[in-house]
Amino acid sequence: MKILQKTIKQKFFLKGYGVHSGLESNIILYPAPPNSGVVFLKKSDIPIKAHINNVYKTNFCTGLKNKTETIDTVEHLLSAICGCDIDNLFIYVDANELPILDGSANIFVQEFIKTGIIEQNFERKYFVINKHIRVEEGNKFAEFVPYDGTCYDVSIEFKNSIIGQQNILFDMNKNNYAKEVAIARTFGFIENIEQLWANNMALGASLKNSIVIGTANEIINKEGMLIENEFVRHKLLDVIGDTFLAGKRFIGKFRSHCSGHDLNFKLVEKLIKTI
Ligand code: ZN
Repeated sequence: MKILQKTIKQKFFLKGYGVHSGLESNIILYPAPPNSGVVFLKKSDIPIKAHINNVYKTNFCTGLKNKTETIDTVEHLLSAICGCDIDNLFIYVDANELPILDGSANIFVQEFIKTGIIEQNFERKYFVINKHIRVEEGNKFAEFVPYDGTCYDVSIEFKNSIIGQQNILFDMNKNNYAKEVAIARTFGFIENIEQLWANNMALGASLKNSIVIGTANEIINKEGMLIENEFVRHKLLDVIGDTFLAGKRFIGKFRSHCSGHDLNFKLVEKLIKTI
């Protein structure tokens, strides 16, 4: 069956703050022609394509660059784009970082649904995983294996008992991204925050955009968790965004244990070189 590319019906605007910079960030999302992919535009008008070749940073967020400019924390929007089945989008940004909003992909998804998503008369191309591709570091790994469909099997393991061991199996064609993934917020530990601040990171982090785990091993946010296993669901959200940087969706199964942006990046890099 031929699957067509998609874009949004009309442009829309979002405003927020960067989680690391703490600075205001405004974005306008525009429909884009077939085969454009996802392209960020900053003031210089030199586009930055959302592609693994343009990744310059994978610690604490995924950042992209061209010759003159950078754009950080792209993973949640990319995840929403992939999860909402969109292919082509131009994104104008007036800051060095995308807005963190509520720390999940939910606001992006709700805006996509409200705006509407339309088919374009061009066939979508996929990476077909036809062999085992794996990267590992100690007990952490990320891998692609052949599979008839698009599936993610993500697990995490934290010493902290409030997170502990969590696993999620998500089939992109059968499960519901908007309900089961997009609402999962990013998380952090209060004991790490001072060190992050000293490194000029997480300056915009707050209880409005992160689940914060306190020193007594408790969730500080009054609302607690929004969904069961929210921590691993957020890791899955990040994985969906990071793997979309291959430039195409994949047909296969992604599996990982304790992988972060860095290992996700290395796996996608290996995928591009292998296929
Ligand atoms: Zn994230």
